[in-house]
Amino acid sequence: MKSDIQIAQEAHLENIKDVAAKVGVTEDELEMYGKYKAKLSDELIHRVENNEDGKLVLITAINPTPAGEGKTTISLGLTEALNQKGISAIAALREPSLGPCFGIKGGAAGGGYAQAVPMEDLNLHFTGDFHAITSANNLLAAMLDNHIHQGNALGIDTKRIVWKRCMDMNDRTLRNIVIGLGDKPNGVTREDHFIITVASEIMAILCLAEDMKDLKERIDKIIVAYNYAGDPVTAKDLKATGAMAALLKDAIKPNMIQTLENTPVLVHGGPFANIAHGCNSVRATKLALKLADIAVTEAGFGADLGAEKFFDIKCRKAGLKPDAVVIVATVKALKYNGGVPKQELSKPDMEALKNGIVNLDKHIENIHKYGVPVVVTLNSFVTDTEEEYEFIKKHCEELGCEFALSNVWADGGAGGIELADKVLASFDKKSDFKPLYEDELPLEDKIMTIAKEIYGADGVTYDSKAKKELDHITQMGFGNLPVCMAKTQYSLSDDASKLGRPEGFTINIREVYVDAGAGFVVALTGKVLTMPGLPKVPAAEGIDYDEENEKITGLF
Ligand code: ADP
Ligand code: MG
Repeated sequence: MKSDIQIAQEAHLENIKDVAAKVGVTEDELEMYGKYKAKLSDELIHRVENNEDGKLVLITAINPTPAGEGKTTISLGLTEALNQKGISAIAALREPSLGPCFGIKGGAAGGGYAQAVPMEDLNLHFTGDFHAITSANNLLAAMLDNHIHQGNALGIDTKRIVWKRCMDMNDRTLRNIVIGLGDKPNGVTREDHFIITVASEIMAILCLAEDMKDLKERIDKIIVAYNYAGDPVTAKDLKATGAMAALLKDAIKPNMIQTLENTPVLVHGGPFANIAHGCNSVRATKLALKLADIAVTEAGFGADLGAEKFFDIKCRKAGLKPDAVVIVATVKALKYNGGVPKQELSKPDMEALKNGIVNLDKHIENIHKYGVPVVVTLNSFVTDTEEEYEFIKKHCEELGCEFALSNVWADGGAGGIELADKVLASFDKKSDFKPLYEDELPLEDKIMTIAKEIYGADGVTYDSKAKKELDHITQMGFGNLPVCMAKTQYSLSDDASKLGRPEGFTINIREVYVDAGAGFVVALTGKVLTMPGLPKVPAAEGIDYDEENEKITGLF
């Protein structure tokens, strides 16, 4: 079997200007980054402003195995299938982070015959957006520490600095550091922390901003620290907004590349799916809706996290109305939810499948709470048996839920025709989208609503510090913001070992804070890493550059 990178390197790529022309974008409206990548200009965004919006389809998944269940793969395969049927469709996806690329998961450009290319570029540096975000984040950090060093006119309490430095790399040693060592000219000595770039609030802001004006207003509001009186100190107070916006002027423009079948794909922004909302930029999604009849987009992790935040944060804030949701399931993940250990997931096991399918049921029920039609797709693996497939299909049909088998990993768009037909049919059911809760609901009630309705919890408990901070956030005037839940992706509960459809549990909130610029309140359950580490054998050990053939090898 060929690896993802082999398939990607054998593909015939078209010049990006020819790909863009398929959705009516002219060469003048592109800012070229070589032959196969382009940024889309503001002139284009303005020209298509009054076009009618296409249909919006969200790709989400059941609670996954650690390997990922193929949401990106299905997103790209579905887009190709729709295009094969003569329907204009564009995928809008997240940009990959270098951290997981060199760690365990590998790249994030889809897989098999459903990939976005050039996958090496997409996975490594791409058009420099993450570099710009990292720079803007760290400029703010440098200005903050310099302000303190230069006399601290704002009275910043150095014990209450919340802004962290960032880097797009998995590096556990930078989680907790001491800065400003040495004598006086080296700045004030204090404890500091690095997070991975995708966890930066700047990333979330870039992905939620409508335009440059909105971006600047959001940066103004970023809380970097609290002063000795306990009041917030913002990026605006530090006069950092202008320079940060200047660094982000190109990063805010959506990027276009292509699928293996030469249809356009927008890839833009990539916030963490745990402490942020985990979706590509609002600008890319809106542009895809203007340029095509169908925009296919993905939200990170399973539907309890990704879809919930897509609906309750992104759609609420950007005024988007999804028309259909595709829930991706795999035999492996269903068996994993049925209690089969990771190493044995390739063996047939009907009993485990029957135990694990309750996880899918819960996600279907959850999506229905938002009023959006659901299609379930089984992302087919070569290890799946006919019996397993028939069981899942029958189960969905008994629930009255549309079902399609997807073979896009093996066959590209041709393997997604059945899914495309089911998605098109689901539009007849008419989406009646509404978020789960109202803006006015107190923060504590929002958290309770998500915990009960989406996770199936009995209730919510708080560490005393978290409870106090939630009241403080409300007092500061942020009670109307939506909540961004940070939780394990492996379980509907906050305990990764509770698989399937757990019952009789409570959710414990350990910490809360406000991302005032992004516009949400983060509620952390359990321990959430914002700077991952590398595994014992990092994927980086297998990556190389073959100078003779001028090719990258080993990326997957
Ligand atoms: P997600 O977006 O849900 O994290 P991806 O689409 O990125 O998942 O896929 C994760 C990994 O699984 C990729 O390396 C991809 O090549 C692989 N993969 C996806 N679908 C299949 C499949 N049907 N058979 C084998 N491997 C697959
Ligand atoms: Mg993905």
